[in-house]
Amino acid sequence: MATKKAIKAAVDMERLFGTETALASAGRKKASRKAMMTMEEVRDWVDWCTKCRLNEGRTTIVFGEGDEKARLVFVGEGPGADEDKQGRPFVGRAGQMLNRIIENVLGLRREDVYIANIVKCRPPGNRTPMPDECATCIPYLYKQLEIINPEIVVALGSIATHNLLTTDETIGRLRGRFHPYGKAQLMPTYHPAYLLRNPADKRKVFEDMVKVREALGLPAPKKADTE
Ligand code: URA
Ligand code: SF4
Repeated sequence: MATKKAIKAAVDMERLFGTETALASAGRKKASRKAMMTMEEVRDWVDWCTKCRLNEGRTTIVFGEGDEKARLVFVGEGPGADEDKQGRPFVGRAGQMLNRIIENVLGLRREDVYIANIVKCRPPGNRTPMPDECATCIPYLYKQLEIINPEIVVALGSIATHNLLTTDETIGRLRGRFHPYGKAQLMPTYHPAYLLRNPADKRKVFEDMVKVREALGLPAPKKADTE
């Protein structure tokens, strides 16, 4: 006999990954399939996740943070060393750059938006997450986006952009304009870590973020600069 807990677990898994299991189907009468998971329920799943090899090297997961009702969501690639230690997204040097963009270009506070990544565990040595790791982890992000239901998603860098738009067109060609993304619009732009290495491209990110700010109907902040 399947326990209530096991049935709930199977139903949650089905809601997360769309996989039909006998246990979930047995529990269908007890739990509606359509009922939305809460962010805490999704976080609980990620906390225990060992679905890909990246779980082996993590100190802790980096689930994402911010306003669960945000109009704007930023999606990065995956945690680096600082993020892995603190369990929070974008807290290292790239994070400081992202904070400046949010505050100085969008005129928002970090806590007004939601920030997450494609993969929730740090790839060893900060390597790029592999396609299978991204594909395994991205259902968690889909759930986060479903709960938040933002108007705009900003994809930071090519990993986020390629995984969200399922294209391999270059970021240079994709950035600068909105792409339909479900009920939202997606703006690809350069990753803040790339900007640290290529400061000349800050201007392009500034332009992309002005488009985001205007699409949200927000006023220009007084200090409209990425510096
Ligand atoms: N780079 C990312 O893509 N995500 C983070 O959370 C930090 C750095
Ligand atoms: Fe699970 Fe994602 Fe971590 Fe892989 S990266 S173990 S899929 S949470």
